[in-house]
Amino acid sequence: MDKILNYIDGELVAPTSGNYLDNYNPSTGKVYSLVPDSDKDDVDIAVAAAKKAFKGWSTTSKQDRSDILMKLADTIEKHFDELVKAESRDNGKPEILAANVDIPRAPANIRFFAGAILHNSSKMHEMDGMAINYTLRQPIGVAACISPWNLPLYLLTWKVAPALAAGNTVVAKPSEVTPMTAFLFSKICIEAGLPKGVLNIVHGLGSKVGDPLTTHLDTPIVSFTGGTVTGKHIASVTAPMFKKLSLELGGKNPNIIFDDADFEKAVSVAARAAFTNQGQICLCGSRVFVQKGIYDKFKEALIVKTKKLKVGDPKNPKSQLGAVVSEEHMNKILDKIALAKSLGGDILIGGEREILDGELKDGYYIQPTIIEGLSFNCDINQEEIFGPVVSLIPFDTEEEVIEMANSTKYGLSASIFTENISKGHRVAAAIDSGVVWINTWLLRDLRIPFGGMKQSGVGREGGFKSLEFFTEPKNICVKI
Ligand code: NDP
Repeated sequence: MDKILNYIDGELVAPTSGNYLDNYNPSTGKVYSLVPDSDKDDVDIAVAAAKKAFKGWSTTSKQDRSDILMKLADTIEKHFDELVKAESRDNGKPEILAANVDIPRAPANIRFFAGAILHNSSKMHEMDGMAINYTLRQPIGVAACISPWNLPLYLLTWKVAPALAAGNTVVAKPSEVTPMTAFLFSKICIEAGLPKGVLNIVHGLGSKVGDPLTTHLDTPIVSFTGGTVTGKHIASVTAPMFKKLSLELGGKNPNIIFDDADFEKAVSVAARAAFTNQGQICLCGSRVFVQKGIYDKFKEALIVKTKKLKVGDPKNPKSQLGAVVSEEHMNKILDKIALAKSLGGDILIGGEREILDGELKDGYYIQPTIIEGLSFNCDINQEEIFGPVVSLIPFDTEEEVIEMANSTKYGLSASIFTENISKGHRVAAAIDSGVVWINTWLLRDLRIPFGGMKQSGVGREGGFKSLEFFTEPKNICVKI
C-alpha cells in the first residue's frame, strides 16, 4: 500500500512516531493508501526548517522567487494527468471536474502570484515638502497554511503561492482526508528545485498537527480555510498570541431567482451551483429563493434538469456527480435529509444514498436532492449541509427575499438572477455577502478581494489582498 510522506526541509520523510492513518478512496469505500499521523514533534521540526530557510528566501529577489514559482507551475502541468487521477481518487470527485477545475487552477494560482509580486507596489505619503513617508511591505516569517478537503490542491496552492511569492516560508497542513495531491506536490517542489525548507507539508489530524502548528510561537501568520467551528477555535487560540489571521469559512449561500430572470440560464446555473463537486464547494448555492410568479415552472424545470444528472464512477467522463468525501460526511448529509423530512420538508427528487455496482458498491454516493416546504429559518435553511442538497423557498417581494437571504449567520456568496439591472445592483448591495454574482455563479477573477462576512470569515484573500495579508507594512518617515 502506498505510504504518503511528510515534506520537511526538502526531504520526503516518515512521521517521527512511525504512525499512519488509513486513507480511503470514497468511490469504493476502500483504504488505498496510508497518511502520516504526524504530531507536535513533526510540526516542530518543520517549523524549525521553515524558520531557517526564511533568511535566505525572504532576501531572494522577487524576480528569482517569481521564476521558481513559474517553474513549479510548469512542473504541475507536466504531471497534470497524474494529479487529475489522484485528486479524483482521493476526494471522490469526477475526473472530468478535477481536469477542468481543480488541477488547472493550481498552476493558475501559482502563476498569478508569481506575476503579482513583480507588479506589486507600496504607498508613499508626501507631507507638503517637509517629509515623505513610504511604506515597506516585508515578509513576516513562517506562515501556517491550513486547507480543507473539498478542493485540495486548488486551495493549498491558493495559500502557499502568495505566501511564498511575498517572501515567507510555509508549513502547510492539508486535510488528512485528502492528502494525496499535496504529497505529489511535495515531489513536484523537489523536481522544480524549490530551495529546502521554503515549503514544508505536514500531514495528519487537526488536533495533532493543526493545533500545534497554529499555536506555535514561530508561526506569526495563520491562513485557514475550512469550517466555521474550526475557524472559531483557531481564532480563539491565536488571538491571545497576536497572530495575523485570515479565515475563509463556511457558507449557506442564497441563489435568488426573480420572475424576470432569463429562465433557462437561471435553471441551468442553479443546478450547477447546487450540485457541482457533489455540493461540496463553500460557494454552492444551497438555498434557492424563487419568486412566486415562476416558482412552479422553475421547480419543474429544476427537477427535470436534476433527473438528468448522472451519479456514477468518477472515472467515467459521463458522470456529473461522483462520491462525497467520506463515510462520515455521507452519513452527516443523510442525517440532514432525514431531519428535513422530519421538519415537514418534501423531497422532490433524490434523498437517498445511491448504491452503484461492482467495486463501487460501498462508495459514498448520494443522489442530488431537492427539498421544498421548509421555512427559511429552520435548521436545514440555516446550517451548512455541504452536500448535493438544495432547498427551494418561494418569495413575493424584493424586501422579503433580502430579509430571508440575510437571515443566516453566514455571509460568503450569493447569486441573483434578473434581467432588470437596477434591481440586480440594488439587491447585490443589500445582501450580506463578501461575493455577489449577478446572472452567473463561480465566475472567479483571481484579482478580486475574496472572503466572507459574518461567520463566513475574517479578512480577504485574492489578488493584492493576499500579498497584503502575507506582508507586514512598515512606515518610514524621512524629513526633507
Ligand atoms: P474543517 O474545518 O473540518 O477542516 C479544515 C482543515 O482544518 C483540515 O485540514 C482540518 O484537519 C484542520 N483542522 C481541524 N481542526 C483543527 C485545529 N484544531 N487546528 C488547526 N487545524 C485544524 O473543514 P473541512 O475540511 O470539513 O472543509 C469543509 C469546510 O470548509 C466547509 O465548512 C466549507 O464551507 C469550508 N470552506 C470554505 C471555503 C472558503 O473559501 N470560505 C472554501 C472551501 C471550504 P482535519 O482534516 O484533520 O480535521
